[in-house]
Amino acid sequence: MRCLVTGVAGFIGSHLAERLIELGHEVLGVDRFTDYYARELKEGNLARLRGEPRFSLSTADLATDDLRPLLSGREVVFHQAAQAGVRPSWGQSFEVYLRDNVLATQRLLEAARAHGHVRKLVYASSSSVYGDPSGNTGDVPMHESSRTVPHSPYGVTKLAAEQLCELYRRNFGLPTISLRYFTVYGPRQRPDMAFHRFIAAVLKGEPVRVYGDGEQTRDFTYVSDAVQANVDAMESGAVGVFNIGGGSRVSLNDALGLLGELAGPVRVERGEPQPGDVRRTWADTAAARAALRYVPRVPLREGLAAQVAWQTRRLGLCR
Ligand code: NAD
Repeated sequence: MRCLVTGVAGFIGSHLAERLIELGHEVLGVDRFTDYYARELKEGNLARLRGEPRFSLSTADLATDDLRPLLSGREVVFHQAAQAGVRPSWGQSFEVYLRDNVLATQRLLEAARAHGHVRKLVYASSSSVYGDPSGNTGDVPMHESSRTVPHSPYGVTKLAAEQLCELYRRNFGLPTISLRYFTVYGPRQRPDMAFHRFIAAVLKGEPVRVYGDGEQTRDFTYVSDAVQANVDAMESGAVGVFNIGGGSRVSLNDALGLLGELAGPVRVERGEPQPGDVRRTWADTAAARAALRYVPRVPLREGLAAQVAWQTRRLGLCR
């Protein structure tokens, strides 16, 4: 397949592009290299791809540039580009979230609709569309039909973009599929994410800052599982919305216990819970299993060990 991967210099996009190349596909990657985190990390993410003859890179902005040349001849679009991060999405920076999440997605969908050769458009959605289940669905796994009540401005923009994908499918027959990722981790994880910050602190002998009591739970998903879900989405005829979780719910305190075993002593410094943070996430992945044959394969201990090994190698470059 001739694929387009947006956000290719990012954490998930770079892993996905590598996997597609491994599987024999041709990949055009696009990224605008936002300054959300260090450029060196993004350049490192692209290091393996740059040597691949079936990979090419376009430094373009989905929110402003002409997207027709990017879509020309592309059969599958994997839309990973976004302004990620829950906590910074309040206040003035919301404009960036609107631009890079909502406007960029709408422009990509328009270009894909006009183009006519796109067999599948896979959108990187998020568990943040559900919001906080303590005030929502209760202590049950989040199901695709659960209410979507985002708890942060970031979640609002991810849901808006997902709804746009649904609209373009229903109105114009564009085959879109949205994968609601649940907290993805592994090598190259963004430096603002909890595991990245925790591992960096432990490796430097600094205290680990935990917001809240640490009993909040997450359905952690290893990056190769999220990538496989994208490949499954391309290969299946399925469209619509699917949860992509890691298969187990773990509290931050339990994850820190595991990190202590893998990386060394953990000293915790507690901070106040932050606006936008949800108490728990838990994915019901039965629909993805049935329609995409998606099964998470990497357990937390194995995945966390791989991330610790990567951060140990890169320590000098993390900010
Ligand atoms: P990331 O920040 O590492 O990668 C996103 C990339 O998109 C960046 O390299 C950025 O420069 C690029 N980008 C942003 N706006 C752009 C634009 N207008 N034009 C071109 N490129 C642009 O983020 P990530 O963690 O790899 O997340 C990838 C996707 O998965 C995002 O859509 C995110 O919302 C979603 N997601 C991630 C997680 C997670 O746990 N990492 C969870 C749920 C959903």
